[in-house]
Amino acid sequence: MADVENRVSENVAGDYYVDDQCIACGICVGEAPDNFEMGADYAYVYKQPENEAEKTACESALEACPVDAIGSDG
Ligand code: SF4
Repeated sequence: MADVENRVSENVAGDYYVDDQCIACGICVGEAPDNFEMGADYAYVYKQPENEAEKTACESALEACPVDAIGSDG
């Protein structure tokens, strides 16, 4: 389970975030390219979801993350 206390600094403010457990696999970027992108070491949320389609994509990313590094309680 992602820990909001460990969110990586690149995340924009808001509900969705990536924490420091990320292994940079890139799955979340594939699931929600309008919201997640890869940084040097971690993925991060560069834009919070702004509509239902983006929210659904972010939920898919959260569920697909193999190490539970994505949270929605930010
Ligand atoms: S799916 Fe999870 S582990 Fe993979 S890049 Fe995204 S946040 Fe990191």
